[in-house]
Amino acid sequence: MPDCIFCRIAAGEIPATVVRRSGDAMAFRDLDPRAPTHVLVIPTAHVAAVRDATGSDGESLLGRLLQFAAEVATDLGLDAGGYRLVTNTGPDAGQSVAHLHLHLLGGRRMSWPPG
Ligand code: 5GP
Ligand code: ZN
Repeated sequence: MPDCIFCRIAAGEIPATVVRRSGDAMAFRDLDPRAPTHVLVIPTAHVAAVRDATGSDGESLLGRLLQFAAEVATDLGLDAGGYRLVTNTGPDAGQSVAHLHLHLLGGRRMSWPPG
């Protein structure tokens, strides 16, 4: 595995504002928030991007990750206003950290399509 900043956050080696943990996932505040609520939801084990979560293990991991993100959104009071879940994959999408993460964004009206 490459030296990975989100693996180090998952291991507690780099501090982060943790919102919630589950058996194999965690949610923490983005360092550079782009919305009033901006949380990153990651698997604690290293997976580079959504396309790398393959097979039946990947299928169940992605399912759990989405459910976990929805629980976090509920915890943070986002259900009434709604929210956006985004996962960037590769350079065209602007992925800057090669550890699968969902951006959970909420608390303001958002435009579509993204830039
Ligand atoms: P990406 O650009 O890969 O979709 O998203 C990476 C996100 O990770 C960015 O929104 C960035 O602000 C966030 N980020 C990068 N390094 C750190 C860090 O050390 N701590 C936290 N909490 N967020 C980070
Ligand atoms: Zn990692």
